[in-house]
Amino acid sequence: MSGLNLAQQEAVNYLHGPCLVLAGAGSGKTRVITHKIARLIQAGLEGKRIAAITFTNKAAAEMRERAKALIGREAKDLLICTFHALGVRMMRQDGQVLGLKPQFSILDADDVTGILKDAGGTTDAATARSWQWTISAWKNSGLNAAQALAQAKDDNERVIATIMQRYEERLTAYQSVDFDDLIGMPLKLLRDFPEVREKWQKHLGHVLVDEYQDTNATQYELLKLMVGERGRFTAVGDDDQSIYGWRGATLDNLRKLPQDFPTLKVIKLEQNYRSTSAILRAANNVIQPNPKLFPKTLFSELGEGEPVRVVDCDNEEHEAERAVARIQSIRANGLGKEWKDFAILYRANHQARVLEQALRKAQIPYKVSGGQSFFDRAEIRDLCAWLRLWVNNDDDPAFLRAVTTPKRGIGHQTLGSLGVFASQYKLSLFEALFSSSLPSVLNARALGSLQEFGRFVNDLEYRARHTSGAEDAKTFLADWLKDIGYEKHLYDGEENEKVAAARWTNVLEFCDWMAGRCGGQIDDAAGVATATERKTLLEVAQTIALLSTISEREKDQNVVTLSTLHASKGLEWPHVVLAGVVEGMLPFKPDEDAPADSLLQRIQEERRLMYVGITRAQRSLVVSWSKKRKKGREMVAAQPSRFIAEMALDKATVKEDPREKLKALRAEFAKKSAEAAAAAAAASNAP
Ligand code: ATP
Ligand code: MG
Repeated sequence: MSGLNLAQQEAVNYLHGPCLVLAGAGSGKTRVITHKIARLIQAGLEGKRIAAITFTNKAAAEMRERAKALIGREAKDLLICTFHALGVRMMRQDGQVLGLKPQFSILDADDVTGILKDAGGTTDAATARSWQWTISAWKNSGLNAAQALAQAKDDNERVIATIMQRYEERLTAYQSVDFDDLIGMPLKLLRDFPEVREKWQKHLGHVLVDEYQDTNATQYELLKLMVGERGRFTAVGDDDQSIYGWRGATLDNLRKLPQDFPTLKVIKLEQNYRSTSAILRAANNVIQPNPKLFPKTLFSELGEGEPVRVVDCDNEEHEAERAVARIQSIRANGLGKEWKDFAILYRANHQARVLEQALRKAQIPYKVSGGQSFFDRAEIRDLCAWLRLWVNNDDDPAFLRAVTTPKRGIGHQTLGSLGVFASQYKLSLFEALFSSSLPSVLNARALGSLQEFGRFVNDLEYRARHTSGAEDAKTFLADWLKDIGYEKHLYDGEENEKVAAARWTNVLEFCDWMAGRCGGQIDDAAGVATATERKTLLEVAQTIALLSTISEREKDQNVVTLSTLHASKGLEWPHVVLAGVVEGMLPFKPDEDAPADSLLQRIQEERRLMYVGITRAQRSLVVSWSKKRKKGREMVAAQPSRFIAEMALDKATVKEDPREKLKALRAEFAKKSAEAAAAAAAASNAP
């Protein structure tokens, strides 16, 4: 109980009923979760019966580390993961009742776009993506294609519902699921199959949910079914930090909790342990105009600290240089010692580019989080297609990618005939390979190469199923890459050798990382061996689609973080620069024709986003904006965000205009040199 205040202790000690911790940023909500895990173990609950749900994989990895520091080895049994990863586990164990094989594949957003293009007969990715949004929204509100069709309001919706129907059929045929299914299907499992529900309710002794304010309606339903009437759960959240409304998150989940669980214990935390009073005041001022779901106050005992600074810049390059200069000056003054003490946060991914350039020029190491994910790189997606095929032979999109990458002399014509044959006999492409009627539609050579590919995949799959532990996995993966000639494929396909080398490095990094996840005896950098749970390569491969970054590696890197505001949630840094705080970016320019009430909600969510940004800072905060910003290819004039005024900073102390300062310095310099010249002249004129 050391390191917890009284309210936190109360939350940690309340073990047997539903509990909601509702509190502002930096008040120790996440800390309550990690300590409560330790408390539950101490009270005799087995680690494997505790589920802690985080918002990202990265947050899960961090929480596991913290839990390990508190309880040691037992942390390895804990179920700490996102809602989606928990969904995978439930579906793998019990999905058969829904007609799903334990080895199903998880499609990523790109696969889904591809399938929708096909199902809707378009070549336009943007159109397919807009369908994707609508279908996803339907799925998240619990509708299937038939229900969506019945409820469709206009022709457009009817068309999309029909496409959704075809889309669902294909997913079933491919034995594949999309991200929304990872919540929707477990929900169906627990709702419609009482024996499955009872099993999970009995199994889960306590469920803890971090960032509860950003759960959506289906996640809430799932939570309710998981904990049952007894409601042994702890949810922690902050209504002022709900920033995923655009993805279906709803504050209704907070409102409903006291009604659905009348014995809910609500605990508020009021002390902020993260930020100085100056930073906290700016945050409180910004969030103040939003309507309050629950009133709360937040104070800090860390002292007033440095004033929050606003930096006006001429353009985005100038702004990036200012951010870099800021980091360098704090380092020079000895206030921030390590690169990892700094973060530059912004609204949208594309804002990172100018900042990256400035950091490179100054030779400052950095990482971009929340940007293009490692798993979106072509070479990684190639390899993932193979993995998916091992996991699930019926995954047709993966089959097509693997059979053609690297090229193995199987042409489009052959694949076309195979496709027609497979759909005629209602087989997956892989199943079709070994059908006794296939020889009637293909020549012997084509048939031979296809079947050889099939046997090769079968063999790999067999070995992946029987390979576990990091060392064996590493050997296996190296052999496989050699067998398919992937390195040569990269160098052949890329004119620039440096680019090919970088891509090959990514491949090796990916394989090392996969091997690491297979557990066993692992030596860390200091040569300390730890034994972790051994997993087979096939088990690891199955969860790959869920992981968006190689997050475990990031945490020891001593580098400056560049991150979108959305991806910065829950994190903290001693020194933060919020860049690009102009009208149109933050708040983001809303659709002009949106109805007024939704505009108001948009601004409220943007204000929460600003609040999240400000409250990431522990000791110093700079908010910068520039008078011009890029909009597409054009440069347009920009105004400082209204949120800068709303921070209500004391203007006398905080305004920092670099040009004014420079002007003053120049004037001072000119004055001094004039004085010196005059003195010199006077001296030389002296008799
Ligand atoms: P957010 O809303 O941003 O997710 P949070 O409420 O989850 O924030 P934490 O991240 O748990 O807050 O805690 C913020 C910081 O305060 C962390 O560095 C944490 O270690 C520290 N902290 C939390 N509680 C205490 C405490 N009782 N004593 C000292 N430090 C604390
Ligand atoms: Mg937190």
